[in-house]
Amino acid sequence: MRSLLIVLMILILLVVLWQIARALLLRAKCLEDEEIYLFIKGRFENNSAVQRRIASHLGTCEKCREQMRMIQFGKELDEHLVEKNEPI
Ligand SMILES: [Zn+2]
Repeated sequence: MRSLLIVLMILILLVVLWQIARALLLRAKCLEDEEIYLFIKGRFENNSAVQRRIASHLGTCEKCREQMRMIQFGKELDEHLVEKNEPI
């Protein structure tokens, strides 16, 4: 009976550890350009899981922040060019 309890506790511990590891991996995974672009555009629902994941990742990852600046710059350039190309 005692050993069964120990096995059960180990199983629960493994599940908890797996879930923590998965959450960390998901957070550590860098963002896709598409995700950053949609985030800048405000296409994600406010406070949704995706939006929160992107925001928290951007808070910790310098690489993705830099990527966001590049995309933001490209977007502004895009909009500027579109404006310029409009017929007079
Ligand atoms: Zn990143």
